Amino acid sequence: MPQHTREIHLAARPVGEPKPSDFRLVEVDLPDPGPSELLVRNTWMSVDPYMRGRMNAARSYAAPYEVGEPLYGGAIGEVLATGDERFAVGDVVLHQAGWREHAVVSARAASVVETGGAPVQYALGALGMPGLTAYTGLQLASLREGDVVFVSGAAGAVGSMAAQLAKLRGNTVIGSAGTPTKVASLRDELGLDAAFDYHDGPVAELLARAAPDGIDVYFDNVGGEHLEAAIGAMRDYGRIAVCGSISGYNATEPPPGPRNMSLVVGKRLTLRGFIVLDHDDLRPEFVREAGPALADGRIVVRETVRDGLEAAPQALIDLLRGENVGKMLVRLG
Ligand code: NDP
Repeated sequence: MPQHTREIHLAARPVGEPKPSDFRLVEVDLPDPGPSELLVRNTWMSVDPYMRGRMNAARSYAAPYEVGEPLYGGAIGEVLATGDERFAVGDVVLHQAGWREHAVVSARAASVVETGGAPVQYALGALGMPGLTAYTGLQLASLREGDVVFVSGAAGAVGSMAAQLAKLRGNTVIGSAGTPTKVASLRDELGLDAAFDYHDGPVAELLARAAPDGIDVYFDNVGGEHLEAAIGAMRDYGRIAVCGSISGYNATEPPPGPRNMSLVVGKRLTLRGFIVLDHDDLRPEFVREAGPALADGRIVVRETVRDGLEAAPQALIDLLRGENVGKMLVRLG
């Protein structure tokens, strides 16, 4: 059994964009697992936008990371030793002690990965938290047949699933993303009806061109100018699933809100924020809908994979810069 392992600690709270020096790679002793604990060798770790928020001191819906302590987040690993009879050595488990090569985790906080034959890392992406987030947002936006749906961050982990699930249900889907290559992939690989690069002009103009008759549903991953443009493009009784606002995650001052909030009244709009953690009850129906479509290729999965724990800090920096296509992952094993 390994006696030591390596993990990434928060060295300093970032100001603006995180820097490599905000992270520290540390070698630590590895305790033996006690009763009801598992010793896990991590093989994959997830890199997610919410991790940037936890590097700040402010408490949001989740506690912040502590300076001098390891970061954490979704990870998959192989059980090397078990203090819980429900798990066997060799089981592949999902847990929250990412950002390290090995972890001793509470058995209660781990679950055996079941992807129905799909690659195991889908449990961190298309079939995991981001996929469920996409499904939840569409449910909360009361997606109906015939709706025109706009998804921002559409080439990312959540956005690509939201856009494809809406498309599979027969909706007209428009996506935005940050590079011409991503935009081409949205149209050609993911089958969206229209897509644009938000760097090509004011988002309101780009959206009006892509959806000349307006939109019914906006799945907001980005906030800022995108949200304002979507409110402007909404038809009466439109619904907005407020999932994230990544355009402001590295901001040092709170970004201004949309200037056209009065339209929310006149158009009778619904803006619904949500946190996926509150909606685990939707997981079975999400897997029923997405699982077969993933298996037969009707949903396309894109991943950006970095190798080795050392690569994890830059993977988070790059995620916030838009250098990922699809789910950002670090392969550890
Ligand atoms: P992504 O895979 O979408 O990666 C982040 C993407 O954000 C980048 O690839 C980049 O793509 C885009 N981006 C970065 N900066 C900007 C900017 N200034 N303007 C527009 N786009 C930008 O991440 P996830 O799919 O994991 O997360 C997407 C969103 O969903 C995030 O806001 C996240 O916080 C939120 N989320 C919310 C959850 C909830 O429970 N509410 C749960 C999980 C995620 P590009 O090249 O297109 O700019």
